[in-house]
Amino acid sequence: MLQYFPTPYPDELWYSVMCRYYIRSGCETLLTVKSRNHFPIRLFFPDSSIMEIVNQLPEGLFSVRDIAINHTLFPYFSRMYPQERKQELINGFSSSAMQTDNPEWRVIARSMPKLKYCPDCIKADQKRYGESYWHREHQIPYMSICRKHGCRLKEHSCKLRQEFTEGPILPEFIQDGTGTEYFTQPYEKTLADVLYSYLTLPIDAGPTQGYSNLFYGLEQEYQHIRNSRVITLDTHRLYADLKSFYGEKITRGFFGKSMPQYVPMKLRNWEFTTPERYALLAAMIGQAPEITFGENQRISHEAESIRVREIRFPTMRQKADLMKAVNI
Ligand SMILES: [Zn+2]
Repeated sequence: MLQYFPTPYPDELWYSVMCRYYIRSGCETLLTVKSRNHFPIRLFFPDSSIMEIVNQLPEGLFSVRDIAINHTLFPYFSRMYPQERKQELINGFSSSAMQTDNPEWRVIARSMPKLKYCPDCIKADQKRYGESYWHREHQIPYMSICRKHGCRLKEHSCKLRQEFTEGPILPEFIQDGTGTEYFTQPYEKTLADVLYSYLTLPIDAGPTQGYSNLFYGLEQEYQHIRNSRVITLDTHRLYADLKSFYGEKITRGFFGKSMPQYVPMKLRNWEFTTPERYALLAAMIGQAPEITFGENQRISHEAESIRVREIRFPTMRQKADLMKAVNI
């Protein structure tokens, strides 16, 4: 039984709570891991360590499910999973056979053994709580700014991964003292808001059955008439817009050198299981997550604007005009 355990601060990463426990109690056992390779997973994802701790505390104080949902990146990384898979993982949180060896998480975790912090949050937290802590929303990949203070997040990468397990690290221990940067690219705030919603929306918000409002949103902006009957997405224009909005590096990283037609189709069928592509596209076309995951199909035939409807079901005359326009 643990005699003492810190109460997590709002949006505090579970790893951060363990660090604070270590500092207060001098007891290092919670930070030790059997395999160092496992540690990147423990930094951001729920694993069996949560249950081990909860079991050593008075009953009812914490629930594994609440910790996983409010203090790890689980809601973000499982956002695009089908409901059944998500539910299966959540049910597993409270069993001793908790799935800690999710191969997808292992790959993701390997790419992110670094922690991000906001210098202004350190000051604010120290003033309010007397200490700083790792904020969960800052750890989302591609979250590059602090939404609260509008400044660029700084990164702490450990040269050796075991550094994270050798002793507690809090933002105030490692802040580098260099100036805080308030200049950000125009897309960063929009993207940050979408990413934050993907983390914090109710856990069952996710892929919708049989339709995708994001795809309809893209269709509205990028429909491309191949001939009088077939409407596809103008992926060239979409790709060019992504590049000018996010720059070459991010666009290439997620969509390749050019965007094949199957990408929008995969998006429409919710086949990508990681959230970034959805977030990048939604932020660019200004679609709120509440619409992307909305229960109502956004564009039914009746709700379409006249212009769209006319193009989709053109008269013979319109068809002729469209053909001319496309051939120009
Ligand atoms: Zn901040």
